[in-house]
Amino acid sequence: MSYKYETKYNSPNFTKGSDALKVFGYKRKIDGFCLHHWGDPKAKPSYEGVRNYLSRSNGNTSAHLVVTGTGRRVSVIVNYNDVAWHSGNAWGNARTIGIELDPRGRESDKDVFAEVLADLRSAFGDKPLYMHSHFSNTQCPGVYKKLLSDLDKRSYQKISGNKFGQVTNKKTPAPVIPPKPKAVPKKVSPTTKKVDGTPQPDTGVAVVHKIDYKEENNVKEKIMKSVPKPSKVSKDQWVQVLKAGLYVGVSAVLAFFISVVTENPDLFGTLTPVVNVVLVTVKKVFSEV
Ligand SMILES: [Zn+2]
Repeated sequence: MSYKYETKYNSPNFTKGSDALKVFGYKRKIDGFCLHHWGDPKAKPSYEGVRNYLSRSNGNTSAHLVVTGTGRRVSVIVNYNDVAWHSGNAWGNARTIGIELDPRGRESDKDVFAEVLADLRSAFGDKPLYMHSHFSNTQCPGVYKKLLSDLDKRSYQKISGNKFGQVTNKKTPAPVIPPKPKAVPKKVSPTTKKVDGTPQPDTGVAVVHKIDYKEENNVKEKIMKSVPKPSKVSKDQWVQVLKAGLYVGVSAVLAFFISVVTENPDLFGTLTPVVNVVLVTVKKVFSEV
């Protein structure tokens, strides 16, 4: 068996691996795999819906992989070198790969997950499988919560990839209790956003596993984005234009006076007050704005 590995979808919701220590207090390193489910199967969440939701712009949750037994599909939406926001725990985020699995718990879901986990262990080492509830007080990963040893066993029975045979039938590695971080990450509520719209990563302060599956929002966002904004000329810009026009006009008037006075010096006395009035007006206009 195998699965379809999709790489064309990308989530913008992650912390760069190089920033992990600064943000979470731990360097990015893969020490395990964290299993999630998509939520209540009764809400009929879809693979595409969850993948799109976790890839939304300015989101505060994500995962590395979205997996379903339907069509044996796997989407990688955050690079493994980077930190996805999935576990509600700083260590859990910085040190694991987050996997969102179809919540229905069908044989096909368990089977494809076992194969994905086998491949991940081949690539990153024989690291433990964690349930999301290991890191946070959450119902996630639902029906899989009690299936840790079953899923582990299935993964070790899988022969997949090019070198997975190396870890076949090994004993399940023991999970670790996350150590205390070296630097305390800044406590931010995962739901708050900075004024500039920068999403706040899930640093593990609160349990974040609420997916509302409302794709309409994404559609709305896309529609909003496609409507070009009308170009606005600000009040200041109009003032600048008027000032420039006035400057040209005044220059012409002064040039006219100068030419008249040059030709008829007698008129100098008569025209001086007029020139003064013009100059005072110009000064007033230019100093007002
Ligand atoms: Zn979860």
